[in-house]
Amino acid sequence: MPAHYASLKLSRAMPILLSAWLVTLGATSAFAESGTTPEDPRAPWNWSEDTVLSAVNQVRAGRDLNPDSWPGKARVAVLLSYDVDNETVMGLRTGEVSIGPLSQGQYGHRVALPRIVKLMNEEKVPSTFFFPAWSLKIAPEQAPLINASGLHEIAVHGWIHELNTSLDAATEERLLRQASDEIEAISGKRPVGYRAPSWNFSPNTLSIVRKMGFLYESSMMHDDRPYELVQNGEATGLVELPVEWILDDAPMFNPRGNRYMNPRDIMQVWIDEFDKAWEEGTMFLLTLHPHVSGHRSRIVALEGLIKHMKAKGDVWFATHEQAARYVRAQAGMD
Ligand SMILES: [Zn+2]
Repeated sequence: MPAHYASLKLSRAMPILLSAWLVTLGATSAFAESGTTPEDPRAPWNWSEDTVLSAVNQVRAGRDLNPDSWPGKARVAVLLSYDVDNETVMGLRTGEVSIGPLSQGQYGHRVALPRIVKLMNEEKVPSTFFFPAWSLKIAPEQAPLINASGLHEIAVHGWIHELNTSLDAATEERLLRQASDEIEAISGKRPVGYRAPSWNFSPNTLSIVRKMGFLYESSMMHDDRPYELVQNGEATGLVELPVEWILDDAPMFNPRGNRYMNPRDIMQVWIDEFDKAWEEGTMFLLTLHPHVSGHRSRIVALEGLIKHMKAKGDVWFATHEQAARYVRAQAGMD
């Protein structure tokens, strides 16, 4: 999603997140309102060790799953992901429907996605496409377009790009189940990977993802390498393929204030991130959005990045599913 939407939504979500978590502690949500005194035991500076640690330990990184080498003795795994948000982030998710922004959403599936799929197919770069279910329901022709080459993966990115922290557990689970059902019905394959809309985790998200039996999750930022998620001190068996705002096209291309960055400068950020991942022998995961990166001047940055990675060599290009299955097997998790 565009960064200005993301920042707005994330900052709006913070009081909701805090009060949701306080409810899990049995506290009232009154703390989120004004009138707190410095002596109030609910104030964070008065929290007990247990309170702080139980907040921190809800979702943590466990064991490092970066393998000694990637398939073909490659030094680095490259995972390109596309969050195909289209109209869902252009008003649908908030109900603030406006015709102009919705046209930008249609650009996503009418022009940008076909341009990106063509490039990935020509370069033979397997990629993962994360869909809010409504994005695929509005334009179901995207599924056969992506599936035609047999290279790519379709995964789930919520129902209508809802903010998980604004939902109760039952609603969040219902939406994710119906999203998986719809995507399976349209694409012909049940998604095995989950990415939270806006990377927004509620206190219930990990439990729901575990209960639904996903192979991997891709919304967290604990590391540059793949790892196992730990929930309240318990190893989950769930592979995390981590993301980062630096490696997301939306804040790079559409920063606050709409002062667009030069795509070639952004390409250099991606190249530097990739080169360090190559040196370290780890993983390079890039989050892109067709409606953001699929424009003519910006696809040039993606073409340049792929050219650079191929020239460097010893790269394993993979879908998220392929990477998750590989690291699980290497770690003896199967
Ligand atoms: Zn998204």
